[in-house]
Amino acid sequence: MKFQTEPIVTNAQYLLNDSRQLSSPSNSIFFAIKGLHHDGHQYLDDLYRKGVREFVVEKAGCTSIVMRELNRMVDAKVWQVNSSIAAMQDIAREHRNQFNLPVIGVTGSNGKTVVKEWLSQLLGNRFQVIKSPKSYNSQIGVPLSVWQIGKNHSMAIFEAGISRPNEMANLAKIIQPSIGIFTNIGTAHNEFFGDTTQKIREKIKLFDQAQTLIYCADYVDIDEVVKKEFIYTNPNCKILSWSRVLASGIRVDWVVGQQNTKVSLILDDCDTEDEDLPFQGGRGMNLDIPFTDEASIENVIHCIVTLIHLGYNELEIQARLQILRPVSMRLEIKQGIHGNYLIDDTYNNDIAGLTIALNFLTQQKQRERKVLILSDLLETGIIERDLYNQIAYLVHDKNIDMFIGIGEVLTKNCSVFTIPSKNGVRQGELHFFRTTQDFLESKLTDTIRESVVLVKGARKFGFESIVNRLVQKTHGTVLEINLDAITNNLNVYRDKIGQQTKIMVMVKAFAYGSGSTEVANLLQFHGVDYLTVAYADEGVSLRQNGVYLPIMVMNPSPSDFEQIVHYNLEPEIYSPRILQEFSDFIDERKLTAKIHIKLDTGMHRLGFEQEEIPTLLQVLTNNPNLWVSTIFSHLVGADESQFDDFTHLQVERYTTMANQISEAIGYSPSRHIANSAGIARFSEARLDMVRLGIGLYGVAATPEDQTQLQMVGTLKTVISQIKTINPDETVGYGRRGVLTRKTRTATIAIGYADGFDRRFGRGVGEVLVHGIRCKVLGSVCMDMTMIDITDVPNVQEGDEVILFGKDLTIMELAEKIGTIPYEILTSVSERVKRVFYQI
Ligand SMILES: *Cc1c(COP(=O)(O)O)cnc(C)c1O
Repeated sequence: MKFQTEPIVTNAQYLLNDSRQLSSPSNSIFFAIKGLHHDGHQYLDDLYRKGVREFVVEKAGCTSIVMRELNRMVDAKVWQVNSSIAAMQDIAREHRNQFNLPVIGVTGSNGKTVVKEWLSQLLGNRFQVIKSPKSYNSQIGVPLSVWQIGKNHSMAIFEAGISRPNEMANLAKIIQPSIGIFTNIGTAHNEFFGDTTQKIREKIKLFDQAQTLIYCADYVDIDEVVKKEFIYTNPNCKILSWSRVLASGIRVDWVVGQQNTKVSLILDDCDTEDEDLPFQGGRGMNLDIPFTDEASIENVIHCIVTLIHLGYNELEIQARLQILRPVSMRLEIKQGIHGNYLIDDTYNNDIAGLTIALNFLTQQKQRERKVLILSDLLETGIIERDLYNQIAYLVHDKNIDMFIGIGEVLTKNCSVFTIPSKNGVRQGELHFFRTTQDFLESKLTDTIRESVVLVKGARKFGFESIVNRLVQKTHGTVLEINLDAITNNLNVYRDKIGQQTKIMVMVKAFAYGSGSTEVANLLQFHGVDYLTVAYADEGVSLRQNGVYLPIMVMNPSPSDFEQIVHYNLEPEIYSPRILQEFSDFIDERKLTAKIHIKLDTGMHRLGFEQEEIPTLLQVLTNNPNLWVSTIFSHLVGADESQFDDFTHLQVERYTTMANQISEAIGYSPSRHIANSAGIARFSEARLDMVRLGIGLYGVAATPEDQTQLQMVGTLKTVISQIKTINPDETVGYGRRGVLTRKTRTATIAIGYADGFDRRFGRGVGEVLVHGIRCKVLGSVCMDMTMIDITDVPNVQEGDEVILFGKDLTIMELAEKIGTIPYEILTSVSERVKRVFYQI
């Protein structure tokens, strides 16, 4: 095989960097990227078999195996480059250069995706809009998005996000925005940027060639960079700033009502440069927007200013605003009836969104059976026949067991759908319905059992009613688990330990309260090396839910041995007694088994002590059917510098004992001693493998690490009743809720039986209502708690209350009641539903 000479020339409709995103093989060019944790070159062969014929590979990824595979692909075109990402960016830039359409570029710390989605909803009446799928805003996401621009489009909206200096200049060349929106700037620290101003300087580079810049001048740091630097870098750029306080630019104000917010905009008299603005000389607009929270209001105003700039008048803007709906960027897994899991995704109704959601579906190993309920895809800009061929391909390729297509167009195109068959037996079912109502009346819903169900429909099909039918009702209290945060945290630790060190993740105690099967499933997907549970039944449950990774059981007992062997779990052997018992069990059944030897180096919980090593060695050497997979120990104070000497001593003791064992058994099992804090603070303790625990769930051992980790869990409940109580009354049991003023109280649907600790009573604990902290009144009851909401405006029964999350951390909660974050997390009772989501 000869590599093609550059430049890369292709007619492919899709750039592909993730083999799972394949939706149309003959229309895709695959860019193999060799990353730290994934190597795209692994998938070349598979993609070739599926019909992909154009590939870009990296020199560093072309091992002899890869070359052998490439040589077999006689009819493929293959380009070899230094960096596939750079190559992808190059051709995307070239592609962009061929089009002369208005392009809106959106950057900022928050709200990028919402502003992008809303603008595309708002502009849909006048323009054929192309936009980034989901939050595709990275060095890879941007080229993939820009490549989608076609002849039929008359407006493009792309978002750009960066995590390091110098990245934005790259993205700016690919996007080439004519209109820029800088949404806002957050205070979150990032190790790669010195301070907020530097972050702004980097981000604003997206607009170095733009003709218009829209931003909110109340972010004084942004305003300063614009006025002191940007207007000199890009002197021709028209600046459209808006503010609630400044007298220059567009003056905005708003009044929040129960359901809506009234927004008024006034152009300052002195700012007469903007001749094209429709309301000069102090004229203004009064608009009603269907949101009441601060973030949405800000996002909407950016959109409104954009519409004004594009020549929309007040009436048209008002009409368009009514169609806005909250953007749910999350893919959520909910528990359904009949043993189903439900993924509810009524967002991004296009092929890219569908492919992303389908990948999420196939990642879920909790149930083998996969069901897809899909509506017609509207306004995709793709020719109908091509579109439905692509969907049919996806349904076939992802091995959907039951496909339910709802809508006139799907029904019309039903003949392109096929189901794989094995030995002449069809492996699935296809159903088509003209309307959502037809489907609901068909009773087919009752036959959906023990499956993972993806529900994906355009808004007008009202798939909420399908979700309502299938979902298990919750009592209002949920623990939301952010799967992306887990991935982020995992990668933070992986970057620390490098590729040489393996990673075992502790999913004991229901994965620190976060939900074992779902977390384990995700970790399996990301290829961690080992999982650990405390007790055998936790391991069994993982196996029964599709987890095939090696699993260590920390506290096995003889009554579990049968299950341990049957489910291929690996026991921790910590004492001469358990060693003898397990060895006898294995002997009796003439089996072999992998075990993990735990050494006691100072914790004095479980583990062999130095004096017991001879006994251990004797049994091991007499029983070659016991294979020592790893030898490990546990640090007692890795998170506290006052114990650093002792930590070093533990590592020393451990090494001596482990050497002794390896020598005697004649092979060297893997070694591990570091928990999360050990990984962070003792690089020499990382050895062959590390055992990650609390760090995965967002709690770091050092302040620097804390800035990189994300909170995983958000515990939420709802307000059941609101009352106004006079100060001569008291609230709750024992009259302990003493009032000092006329107080508005809210009774919330969570108590100590749910894991909201009773020690939070009497004002110790706080919760968030509409982002405002409210104190707990009186004692926490078993299933309910009363809080003081006197200072929160516009609260209604049914409103959401946050017990912990990003803005009220488990660290803070733990400190308040004198415990550790571990306890806060693991106390959330199992009766609280876990809801998992991915952005
Ligand atoms: C729980 C546990 C860990 C993980 O500890 P973290 O502090 O949560 O990182 C590691 N090793 C053993 C033996 C454990 O029991």
